[in-house]
Amino acid sequence: MPNVKNILEKATIRAPEDLELIARAFTFAENAHKDQKLFDTMPFFEHVYEVARILAELGMDAKTIAAGFLHDVLEDELISKEELEKEFGAEITSLVKGVTKLREYRYKGVERHAESLRQFLIATSKDARVLIIRFADRLHKMRMLHNAKAERQKSIALDTLEIYAPLADRFGMGQIKGELEDLAFPYVYPKEHEKVRMLLKQKSHENQAYLEKVYRALQKEFVKKNVRPLKTDYRMKHIYSLHKKLKRYDMDIEKIYDIAALRIVMQTEDDCYKVLGIIHDMWRPLPGRIKDYIATPKPNGYQSLHTTIFTGDGGIVEIQIRTLEMHNEAEFGIASHLGYKEDVAQVRGEKLKKRLSWISQVVEWQKSISESKEFLETLKMDFFKDRVFVFTPKGDVIDLPEDSTAVDFAYAIHSDIGDHMAGARINEKMVSFDTKLKSGDKVEIITKKNASPSHKWLASAKTTIARKHIKSALQKK
Ligand code: MN
Repeated sequence: MPNVKNILEKATIRAPEDLELIARAFTFAENAHKDQKLFDTMPFFEHVYEVARILAELGMDAKTIAAGFLHDVLEDELISKEELEKEFGAEITSLVKGVTKLREYRYKGVERHAESLRQFLIATSKDARVLIIRFADRLHKMRMLHNAKAERQKSIALDTLEIYAPLADRFGMGQIKGELEDLAFPYVYPKEHEKVRMLLKQKSHENQAYLEKVYRALQKEFVKKNVRPLKTDYRMKHIYSLHKKLKRYDMDIEKIYDIAALRIVMQTEDDCYKVLGIIHDMWRPLPGRIKDYIATPKPNGYQSLHTTIFTGDGGIVEIQIRTLEMHNEAEFGIASHLGYKEDVAQVRGEKLKKRLSWISQVVEWQKSISESKEFLETLKMDFFKDRVFVFTPKGDVIDLPEDSTAVDFAYAIHSDIGDHMAGARINEKMVSFDTKLKSGDKVEIITKKNASPSHKWLASAKTTIARKHIKSALQKK
């Protein structure tokens, strides 16, 4: 049974006025939703209660937790905006408004969907807590999706895969992204889900045995060398993420080495490199699979050292090494900077700003697109698709949607470079324009003053931005 005490225990807040606010929101929401059901089956109040609980667990402030309780009261006009504001003030009301879907009847179908999303992104750019509430809401709905009618299940799950999971990824919320994808997977691709589930089941036993052996050997070595990890555990790969990887490797599970990975959390960055040295001293690493995401973080902020080793008895194991800060960043991303408890306020401010710069880009960009369908398609294609990360000759990271080519890269740098592209080199080799880029590629564009886009380029360009520029250059000709 929902009980406000459970939430208060989870929350990191202790000020009496904060506790009072949460208790008041609890009672208010309980009354407002008393006659409603979620998916026509479960008491609606349980839904908002669970959303508030997720927010408390993420360490959000009292106002956000209260807004979690209240996030659906405007939805069906149970309560008026004025009433809510009178009761809970302007800040909480604006959070609730930010997560409330559009009710205007001039929007229908795709348009309603697109406009809601647009409004949500704009609200997020103004107050990022809106995003966290929306994710808590989606997460709980997905956890309860088995209660929904079959025809709604698939559309909600598809929306989760196409919009919410990529957004979570963009904001570095690895844990939420993984859970959302795994919950949606069986509804959207039931056959594939079953297949991958069986593969994973077979493989995980085998992997676990190797992992445990490596873990025990490492523990001994750590004691000998006086190395003290803060935490050592292992994680199984999320099933949907395994599915995506299998597709890239001809469904051959033997080629995938990170089904299970050992995770070592250390105090400092220096300790991380030290541990990497110890590991390479004990086992031979697979060439080309040592990744230093500490020196070169992924564009979504992910940092860690990765290495894959031969265990010596036929096994291959991936090991990830990171600090606690990197670990929290990888699991909770932006949520870890919005949380109530944070040691260094300044770091928090800077990291948050960096995370939010992406959303302001999207908000700027969407102003130029008025058509709903184009907005949704471009968002999915250019912003949400799986990304590849490539380097400029100077070592700057450019991230592009999967299947992008040198043409997309050129336009991502500058439209002038795109418009005068005469050749491309990937990892020092000349390549054709339609060569697909892979993560880690170093890409160099050769320009000539008199070079200009041709119709052929269109077939090579994947991003909307590149295609737009090429089309307009062709028209000018
Ligand atoms: Mn809700």
